[in-house]
Amino acid sequence: MAWYTAAVWSWFRGLLGERIAPSPRAGRALLSLGREEHQGFFGSHGGLSVLNADLAMAWAESGGADGATRTDRLKALVALWLDRVRDELKRDYRRWRHADVEGLAPLEGNIAPRLAAIGDAASRRVPHYLRGLVEGRDAGPVALVALAGQKDYYTFIDPFQPREGEFATSGGVYIGGAPLPIIAMPIDGAKFAMEWVVAHEMTHHVLADLNLPVWIEEGLTQMMEEAVGGKPYASLTLNDIRDHREYWDERSLERYFAGGSFSHAHGPEQRLAYQLSEAIVRTQMADRPKMFLRFMREACGTEDGREAARSVLGCELRALGGALVN
Ligand SMILES: [Zn+2]
Repeated sequence: MAWYTAAVWSWFRGLLGERIAPSPRAGRALLSLGREEHQGFFGSHGGLSVLNADLAMAWAESGGADGATRTDRLKALVALWLDRVRDELKRDYRRWRHADVEGLAPLEGNIAPRLAAIGDAASRRVPHYLRGLVEGRDAGPVALVALAGQKDYYTFIDPFQPREGEFATSGGVYIGGAPLPIIAMPIDGAKFAMEWVVAHEMTHHVLADLNLPVWIEEGLTQMMEEAVGGKPYASLTLNDIRDHREYWDERSLERYFAGGSFSHAHGPEQRLAYQLSEAIVRTQMADRPKMFLRFMREACGTEDGREAARSVLGCELRALGGALVN
């Protein structure tokens, strides 16, 4: 089985030649709220403000004479919230407001302007690459928050209790839902990895409404780290392959396809799960891209996609693992 073939990249490059549509929000004036407004919408957790999602949603949906959309209003509230967080953090931070991104990042060096550019590019390019799945929908607004160091990072994300514990793998997290989805990441050390983290988490953001099985989504997030984030492709070593063949059995594979392996804190399972997803999705997109795209569409909203594998691909899920799970 070929783990990497040029076919995957020609599939991507075929899309690259086409113009990426501008955001529907680009060029529109941003709604701004005064700092003294809506103070009752905020609570506090670990010394940082937290926006009450229920109050924010109710206010955003109540409409009003300002002519702003529900999304504009939520974005304006999130802007207020991140301004407060900037002032509450001990170190110096910088805020930015763009059409699709409300940003917060350390003031140090050129982190903030770089991250702002990375966020804008990813929010345009990820849905473009994945448009066979998302069919012209744009990424939608998101808060992009980079914290200086692990301590501030965990304080910031703590109230949200992220769905997956993938910090070790991606160095960031996607927090979906109300009032505005959040991509959060710590900045410490590998600043060159910011592109990869944003590409990975932006892919979760773009795919969120599809409810793909986790194992498929984590294959796509890692491919976007390379296609959009510029991460160099690292093929599996012989040791990796041996680890896979020794590790996976019927029970652990069941857990993998059901999504449990990605938050499995013990042993090598989480690491192997991410690798297996990248290997499967990469190989399938190289070998039979159209058929696999149809499979992914069919698998949306199901736990593991096993029925879609039988009906579209004509095989059991386990067979997709090929030599890695034999
Ligand atoms: Zn992920």
